[in-house]
Amino acid sequence: MESAHYDIVIVGAGVAGSALAHALSTIPRDEPLRICLLERSLAEPDRIVGELLQPGGLAALEKLGLESCVDGIDAIPVHGYCVVLDGKPVHIPYPEGRTGRSFHHGRFIQALRAKAKVARGVEVVEATVSELVECPVTGRVLGVRATRKEEGAVEKEAFLADLTVIADGCFSNFRTTVMGGAARKPDTKSHFVGAVLEDATLPIEKHGTVVLVKDSGPVLLYQIGTHDTRMLVDVKAPLPSDLKAHILDNVLPALPSALHIPVQKALENDRLRRMPNSFLPPTEQGGRHSKEGVLLLGDSWNMRHPLTGGGMMCAFNDVVILRDHLANVHDLSNWKEMSDLLHRWHWQRKALASTVNILSVALYDLFGADDECLEVLRVGCFKYFERGGECINGPVSLLSGVIASPAVLFWHFFSVAFYSIWVLFTHPHTVIGADGKPTRVVPGIDAYPFLFIKSIQVFWTACVVFVPLMLTEVR
Ligand SMILES: Cc1cc2nc3c(=O)[nH]c(=O)nc-3n(C[C@H](O)[C@H](O)[C@H](O)COP(=O)(O)OP(=O)(O)OC[C@H]3O[C@@H](n4cnc5c(N)ncnc54)[C@H](O)[C@@H]3O)c2cc1C
Repeated sequence: MESAHYDIVIVGAGVAGSALAHALSTIPRDEPLRICLLERSLAEPDRIVGELLQPGGLAALEKLGLESCVDGIDAIPVHGYCVVLDGKPVHIPYPEGRTGRSFHHGRFIQALRAKAKVARGVEVVEATVSELVECPVTGRVLGVRATRKEEGAVEKEAFLADLTVIADGCFSNFRTTVMGGAARKPDTKSHFVGAVLEDATLPIEKHGTVVLVKDSGPVLLYQIGTHDTRMLVDVKAPLPSDLKAHILDNVLPALPSALHIPVQKALENDRLRRMPNSFLPPTEQGGRHSKEGVLLLGDSWNMRHPLTGGGMMCAFNDVVILRDHLANVHDLSNWKEMSDLLHRWHWQRKALASTVNILSVALYDLFGADDECLEVLRVGCFKYFERGGECINGPVSLLSGVIASPAVLFWHFFSVAFYSIWVLFTHPHTVIGADGKPTRVVPGIDAYPFLFIKSIQVFWTACVVFVPLMLTEVR
């Protein structure tokens, strides 16, 4: 069997792998690191993932010297969000005039790969990795076995290295082997079903749009090119057998009317694609359960709900911190040194990663409300945004990566919970009168005992959403 030796082998030239290969090549050294980046297909990917990069992600991209990857790909500047409930929009601009970018995922990935290809010391190889090469005595990972895509290449080749990085994405084949006893299973919260709308007009142009749909998951829309707008419809399990009919009957009526024709056309002409929306909290690597000589990066290690578009931002931020630590490593094959590095990396990334992870799932639970108490929180959250000022600025700063603080997130989440309870007591709600007609009334004192019990249930629900998420992050 053929074999080649490198300093670092990276599996997967997606968001994280391509950025890491380039980042490692920029570490100042007498001899450049020899890096092998293995990717099963170097053709432009056609996926419904990774199409909106938050301002915090753009900042991380700049730190990596990769900011030009969003140029020349018809990327659209994103200035914030618009959340729509019952046809009513609320404008949520990014703080301090910051912007993100949205684009066709495949074009962005090709730009990242192009940077990796010309980086010093990086060899990009089109090959599918099938297994890890382990030392028969110590179990340490020494590299990987892969089969090149070239015609006639049937023989598996060994790509050996002092350090192996697995960045093979959400369906990782190696996560369990690497993490051993500490491995966790991703929890699939729902699916996003995606289509591209042609020449659609969003309620506020160049803003991500989130439409809250009663008795259904939220719908996410953002422009990804001059004429193209991505629509992602959140669908919970069990998936309806006819997804098109589900969207037409249950989702379309909640969308702004300007979108009805583009959505109908897309459903007629476009193939619906779907992806699982998984949550996988990060587990510290380098401990006694995980394998030596290897680490996980990107979605193979840590995933959050894509509702808040934070995956790429987390991946780039992880690469920034990892590069800085690896720049100071004396010997990549010294696992004691690498374990200490992984420990520091794990805790240093927490501020941003935990904020984004918790926010994405907590917000999804509210926006995809599937019980009465969550519905109270969903309406309360929308009305919290309507207050404007810090009620918008705080949450959007967290979502966009401008502020990385689980404590600030805790504050806003429970402010939403208390405000939802206030809304319950003081805001008009719909009741059906004796004549069978719906009217809007503010609850009277006679309703207070019932509302008091409901408030406790709502507060308890908020705790049940938030506290377990917080706990997944403190290890
Ligand atoms: C529906 C959906 C929408 C999303 N939208 C957004 C968004 O708008 N903004 C955002 O920031 N994040 C978004 N995300 C998350 C984001 O896409 C991921 O966080 C990001 O792509 C993770 O990067 P990665 O490098 O870990 O994985 P990937 O980008 O998936 O890269 C993995 C690479 O590994 C390669 N590979 C896999 N197996 C092998 C193998 N055996 N051998 C060789 N190569 C292999 C793959 O071909 C691929 O190129 C979304 C996720 C989902 C599910």
